[in-house]
Amino acid sequence: MLYVHVPFCRSFCAYCSFYSERLPGEAEGPALRSWLEQLKREISVRGAEIVVSHRALPTLYIGGGTPSLLPLPVLEELLQALREARADGFEEFTLELNPEDVAGRGPDYVRSLLALGVNRFSMGVQSLSDPLLLSMRRRHTAARARQAFRTLREAGAENISVDLIFGLAELSNDVLDQTLAGFLKWRPEHISAYQLSVESGCAWAEEQGGGSGRIAPEEQCARQYSRICTTLAEAGYRHYEISNWALPGREARHNAAYWNRTPYVGLGPAAHSFQIFPDGRQRRSWNAEALRWLEAQEKPLPGAGEEWLTAGQIREESLMLGLRTAAGIEQGLLSGEIAAKKQKEGLLETTPEGRQRIPERLWFVSDGLIADLL
Ligand code: SF4
Repeated sequence: MLYVHVPFCRSFCAYCSFYSERLPGEAEGPALRSWLEQLKREISVRGAEIVVSHRALPTLYIGGGTPSLLPLPVLEELLQALREARADGFEEFTLELNPEDVAGRGPDYVRSLLALGVNRFSMGVQSLSDPLLLSMRRRHTAARARQAFRTLREAGAENISVDLIFGLAELSNDVLDQTLAGFLKWRPEHISAYQLSVESGCAWAEEQGGGSGRIAPEEQCARQYSRICTTLAEAGYRHYEISNWALPGREARHNAAYWNRTPYVGLGPAAHSFQIFPDGRQRRSWNAEALRWLEAQEKPLPGAGEEWLTAGQIREESLMLGLRTAAGIEQGLLSGEIAAKKQKEGLLETTPEGRQRIPERLWFVSDGLIADLL
């Protein structure tokens, strides 16, 4: 299970605080070359870790930033380096896409990605309202998003996920409904819906009030979430994690493995990794948020680091991640007494497999419920 971070964007969206650098030109520039060379070095240095992780779950997720900015030869070189590290033949290979890049680069680009082995496409559409897209400083319009989706399908993409943002003060119920209706007409295999949060580092956080004016009141967010849940359920999508819905059998294997606490290797700046050693010790580590992240590893810079998890932290993580999913947590993670009490209060239910989960109608407030259980 491998993750590669592509830390480049053409421009920055107003709500985004992910680590990324601006890549203005079309051509492959020195920043991109330097990223690729370091990535190849990191792949060779971490070869043993990559082999173990790839054997456990052969998935690759290239995220960002904006991976669809990568010229195809750069992507080929990256895949070649992974092949040399014996990571090949991915059962699920996801690439994140920006609609503008797909619409602009056309069907030949998508066919080339398919030929390189990409078999899942995750596109950040966010909304089908032009005023909202403009306000969020997205690069695409609703028409370009439609064109991008059509391009993907016509070129042969059979597994597409689209992202949606809710919880914005500017997002009316009508606009949300129109966006959902537009998505359902496309019938993507997977939909992710994320609630807006304004973190420091993004443009909106610089506004008066730290961007709080951009966020819808909590009741409006709850109503929007419930609208999304109902609409997608009626359309046959399975709500398998708080923010994720899929047509039957189209759940994201890679993402689901994060929630199961499967070990993974994150490559590139700001990427996180998780290892479980044969003696049971568990370690989380992360690369520095800098274009020269490898130097940072050799001579640690602020931002790079690692943490060895205690038994208490392992239990907390299992609860926090598992209780965000329809699969829930295994019996025994909570004491019998607490589990019985929460079941009686209607805050937990037993799954057909005998596990415990929070009922879907309470997922919107699950953070508070989970905090109570830690
Ligand atoms: S949301 Fe995506 S495209 Fe926009 S700035 Fe963040 S990483 Fe870049």
